[in-house]
Amino acid sequence: MRVAVVTVGDELLSGDTVDTNAAWLCDRLDERGVSVERVTTVPDRVADIARVVNEYRAEYDAVIVTGGVGPTHDDVTMDGVAAAFGREVVPNADAEAWLDDHGDYAVADLTAGTTHLPAGARMLPNPEGVAPGAVVESVYVMPGVPTEMKGMFETVIGEFEGDPTYVEEVRTSEPESALLDRIEAVREAFDVTIGSYPGEEVRLKVMAADAETAAAAAAWLRDRVDA
Ligand code: ATP
Ligand code: MG
Repeated sequence: MRVAVVTVGDELLSGDTVDTNAAWLCDRLDERGVSVERVTTVPDRVADIARVVNEYRAEYDAVIVTGGVGPTHDDVTMDGVAAAFGREVVPNADAEAWLDDHGDYAVADLTAGTTHLPAGARMLPNPEGVAPGAVVESVYVMPGVPTEMKGMFETVIGEFEGDPTYVEEVRTSEPESALLDRIEAVREAFDVTIGSYPGEEVRLKVMAADAETAAAAAAWLRDRVDA
């Protein structure tokens, strides 16, 4: 399964907020063997959201959009996603019913627009807050507040499945440039993908479709690099 992540918010683009939502989603999806192929951040602007969502829904099996789903004036994500499908944003009966049952307040007291979702959307309850999310065909729309995004994503995580990848890690004090021969050799000897991440030491990530291959390739490397 191939997925794109879209994070929405002027505050992400100005550097006021660090995009932890994208990193968290990539991590959760990667654990499930889902391949995340795009992470794109767009401003709180209907046309930009619509354009990216439209492009990605054609290309990927699913698109996850977070941020800008509250009822305040700067929250236009539902409008952008609706526009990507040529739909209207309309009051959603399931969202109203859910908030009536679970909220501490009457729907009538909520800010206008809180329960408005793209027409025909499946409503996603917000286990940690008020603003509901939505699923429109293959596009999942969730809040920007990290606790709300995480809580909501966990309710749909079963819809994201990929081929599991088995990962082993090998660390070495050798500089990355010195390792090229052994990285090439391990890739020839085993059916693995190797990621190389320099830092204080170099972290070699060994990825394979089965646990035995990942373990054997990692052992092969450990025997041949300096600790
Ligand atoms: P609300 O209903 O509270 O308005 P929302 O879905 O509209 O939620 P935003 O208005 O985009 O979300 O952001 C709410 C809060 O979550 C802000 O403090 C924002 O900085 C933070 N936030 C939004 N997107 C991200 C992100 N990608 N990573 C980390 N924090 C984020
Ligand atoms: Mg908001």
